[in-house]
Amino acid sequence: EQPMVYAVTPTYTRYVQKAELTRISQTLALVPNVHWVLVEDSDEKTDLVRNLVSESNLLVTHLAAKTPTYEKLGEKDPRWKKHRGVEQRNAGLKWIRANLDPNKDKGVVFFMDDDNTYSVKLFKEIAKVKKVGVWPVGLVGGLNAEAPIIDQQTGKVSGYRSGWKADRPFAIDMAGFAINLELILAKPHAEFSYKMEKGYQESEFLSYFTTKDELEPLADNCTKVYVWHTRTEKPTVKGIIKGLEV
Ligand code: UDP
Ligand code: MN
Repeated sequence: EQPMVYAVTPTYTRYVQKAELTRISQTLALVPNVHWVLVEDSDEKTDLVRNLVSESNLLVTHLAAKTPTYEKLGEKDPRWKKHRGVEQRNAGLKWIRANLDPNKDKGVVFFMDDDNTYSVKLFKEIAKVKKVGVWPVGLVGGLNAEAPIIDQQTGKVSGYRSGWKADRPFAIDMAGFAINLELILAKPHAEFSYKMEKGYQESEFLSYFTTKDELEPLADNCTKVYVWHTRTEKPTVKGIIKGLEV
């Protein structure tokens, strides 16, 4: 029996939102056994997202959890200034823990940001995760990809290739790991936090569940890239056509 992949996606209102969500929802439409936990960064769910969800034919749990104002990135702030997606990923985890039963539900939890690019091949890898699985992520960390280093003798992860803070306990992007639902449910206090040092969100979260020694290298022993940390350029919008939802 195929485990369910719970894909937790933070999303927020901006010009490119509908384009991003169209792209990833249509990727997910090609994936069997996926449950999309889509969490809006807003007080209430928006019609734009509600409509996109209902047209998608996917199994979706649609939630809203707004980032507190003092933690929110300002319009002119550089992206690294604040943590992004914390509130939403935690809301997704809360829903998972409140609604899934370790005795009945078999699955894997994956944090799927709305702006990355995902191959359908990635989801076959995620479905293999027994405890915590890892794989390379393209176009991140100051290299062409960030990738776990595999010890050829033991087949285990021995370190990480990254061009940015490579000495992190787990130098892995949010898109570079997935965790079995059983573990997520067994460690109910594990969550993301605004207090973490920049770039340590993944490391701190993973530390609740595993050690480097236990990581399961996927994507052909971490030799393939099936996900890219793409970022969409902010468009210059000089005028608005009324009545046209973009
Ligand atoms: N995000 C959000 N609210 C924000 C900024 C970002 O919900 O104010 C979401 C965003 O849609 C994405 C995730 O958080 O799914 C990570 O944000 P982003 O892609 O901007 O971060 P980066 O990839 O630059 O680390
Ligand atoms: Mn991003």
